[in-house]
Amino acid sequence: MGQDVHGHFIGGAWVGGQATPDANPSDLENPVGLYVQGGAAEAEAGIAAAQAAFPAWSLSGLEQRLDILDRIGAELIARKAELGALLAREEGKTLAEGTGEVGRSGQFFRYYAAETLRQMGEVADSVRPGIEVQVRREPLGVIGIITPWNFPTAIPAWKIAPALAYGNCVVFKPAELVPASAWALAEIIGRSGLPAGVFNMILGPGRDVGQAIVDSPQVDAVTFTGSVETGRRIARDAVARMAKVQLEMGGKNPLVVLDDADLDTAVSAAVNGAYFATGQRCTASSRLIVTEGIHDRFVEALKARVGALKVGNALDPESQIGPVVDQNQLDQNLSYLDIGVKEGARLAMGGERLKRQTRGYFMAPALLTEAHNQMRIAREEIFGPIAAVIRVKDYDEALAVANDTDFGLTAGIVTTSLKYASHFRRHAQAGCVMVNLPTAGTDYHVPFGGRKASSYGPREQGSTAREFYTVVKTSYVAA
Ligand code: NDP
Repeated sequence: MGQDVHGHFIGGAWVGGQATPDANPSDLENPVGLYVQGGAAEAEAGIAAAQAAFPAWSLSGLEQRLDILDRIGAELIARKAELGALLAREEGKTLAEGTGEVGRSGQFFRYYAAETLRQMGEVADSVRPGIEVQVRREPLGVIGIITPWNFPTAIPAWKIAPALAYGNCVVFKPAELVPASAWALAEIIGRSGLPAGVFNMILGPGRDVGQAIVDSPQVDAVTFTGSVETGRRIARDAVARMAKVQLEMGGKNPLVVLDDADLDTAVSAAVNGAYFATGQRCTASSRLIVTEGIHDRFVEALKARVGALKVGNALDPESQIGPVVDQNQLDQNLSYLDIGVKEGARLAMGGERLKRQTRGYFMAPALLTEAHNQMRIAREEIFGPIAAVIRVKDYDEALAVANDTDFGLTAGIVTTSLKYASHFRRHAQAGCVMVNLPTAGTDYHVPFGGRKASSYGPREQGSTAREFYTVVKTSYVAA
C-alpha cells in the first residue's frame, strides 16, 4: 500500500488496493486524501473474517466488551475537535457540527459499553409444573452495516457500538463520499483491543461492496441508513434470502407553527431544523406548516434570520452553513427549486449558487412560500438547505397536512397550547415528535426511527437496539 493510501480493515489488518481522492466540498482543489475502492472480493474477505471471529466473540466476557467500547468512546470524545475538523472538511458540515457529531459518536460507544452489563433475561414458571422457562437474548452473527454520507461518524457509531456490545461481528461499508471519517473511526476501533475479524471495514461503491454484503448468505442481518430507493432494494434482496433487515430512510418532516406560538421559538426551530447541517438530515424540517394568523409575521422573521446566516467554508469558524456535499446533490437541490416555482410556489429568498474564496458547492439557503402539500417539493425528500412554507387555516388542517405524506420520521409543533401540543403528540404519524423544538436533534439513549416509508424493522438506539442485534432463545429445564 502506498504511504498515503488509506486501506480497508479486514481480519485485523489494513489492506490496500486501487485508490481515489476523497473530495472536499468546501475546496475542490484540496482533496482530503487517497482512499481505496474495493469490490465484491474485499467484501467477501471481510465477511469471511467476521464469520471466523464470531464463535469466540459471541462468548466473550462482558467486561472485555465494556472496556473496548469504553476505550473507543473515550478516544472519540478526546479527539472530537481534530476528527470533527476532518469530518467537516470531508462532508461539509460546519466545524461546530462536525465536532459535535464526533463527540456524540463517542457517547454512543460509552452508552453501549454500559449496556453490555444490562443484558438481562427473564425466568418464568412453565405451565407444566416442575419446569422452569428461561428467556434470553443471544448475538445474531455477522452484521452488515451500510451507511450514508450525511452523518459519516455518528450513524456508523450508533450501529457498530450495539452490534459489538451484543456480541456480533461487523462488516461495515461507509458511503463512498466519506471514507476519511469512516477510516478514522475504523483506525480507533482497530486499536481498541478487539480480536481480529470482529470488526471489518470495506471501502467502495454500494453497487459492488454494499450489494455483496446484502447478498451474502454469511451475513445474518443488514442495517442500512440512506435513501428510500436503495433501502427498498436492500430489503427486497435481503428478505429474499431471509436475512434480518433494519432500514432508516428519508423524511419529509413537518414543523407546524400555530397562531399562539412564541415567534422566536418557532423561527429558531425552523432555522435549525431546515437549514443546519445544510439541510442534509433525514430529520430536517422541509415542510413548515403555518396557520394563517401568524403566517406573514413568521415568514418575515424567518427570512430575516435565514438571510443573516453565514454560508462558507466548513473549516471557517464563522461559517454557520457549509457547502452542499457534492455536485449531484447541488444539482438536485437547484432542480427542486425550479420544480417548486413551476408548480406555483414562490421563491421568497435564496437558492443562488454562491462564490467563496475556495471553489466549492455553496448555495444560499432557500425559502419557498405559497406552497401546497401536493407539490413535489412537499412530497419528495430534497435533502438540501430548502424549506417550503404551507399556509393552513387552523390546527386541524395543520395536523391533516402534516400527516399527509409517504414519510413518518419526525414531526414538530410550536405552540403555547397544552391542548394542541398533547393532541399533536398523540396524533402525529411519526416515529419521533417534538414540541417547541426543532424536528432534528435526538438523544442517544432512547429509540430513534420512523413510520411509513421512513423506516422498516426494529428501532435503533437506546436499549431498543437489542431487538435488531440479538435473537431470542427460550429454554425449558425440568427440575
Ligand atoms: P444511497 O441510499 O444510495 O446510499 C446510502 C448507502 O447505501 C451508501 O453507503 C451507498 O453506497 C449504499 N448503496 C448504494 N447502492 C447500494 C446497493 N445496491 N446495495 C447496497 N448498498 C448500496 O444514498 P445517496 O448517498 O446516493 O443519496 C441519495 C439521496 O438519498 C439523497 O439525495 C437523499 O435524498 C437521500 N439520503 C437520505 C439519507 C437519510 O439519512 N435518510 C442519507 C443520505 C441520503 P455508495 O454511496 O458508496 O455508493
